[in-house]
Amino acid sequence: MNKIEHLGIAVKDISEATKVYTKLLGYEHYKTEVVESEAVTTRFFKCGENKLELLEAKSEDSAIAKYIEKRGEGIHHVAFAVDDIRAEVERLKGEGFRILNEEPKRGADNKWVVFVHPKSANGVLVELCQDINNNDK
Ligand code: ZN
Repeated sequence: MNKIEHLGIAVKDISEATKVYTKLLGYEHYKTEVVESEAVTTRFFKCGENKLELLEAKSEDSAIAKYIEKRGEGIHHVAFAVDDIRAEVERLKGEGFRILNEEPKRGADNKWVVFVHPKSANGVLVELCQDINNNDK
């Protein structure tokens, strides 16, 4: 794992949350992106070499909607940058972690992403992310 790439924060209303985080950080977000496969709208703020990702559900059966229903708004996941996501998945499986999607999927902000079940990591949903290169399929 190279560094914490971003923290994902589940929010009910991304417009309202954007106002809060713009005030908190003292500057504006740099990107908004809809991830249709996850039924979420994401919005990114830079924070030094790390980022914050606000996540708002686009439908009731989105994982974010379910999360907020159960636990309320708050930190949803911690994302780590990796160089070789498939090698990390193999390594973590070898260590006994439960991987939610072994096949990396396209996430927001031009990343391949894999999630590790929170039960494997003391209640924290862990995301691995690797930059998508132009020659990746
Ligand atoms: Zn994320």
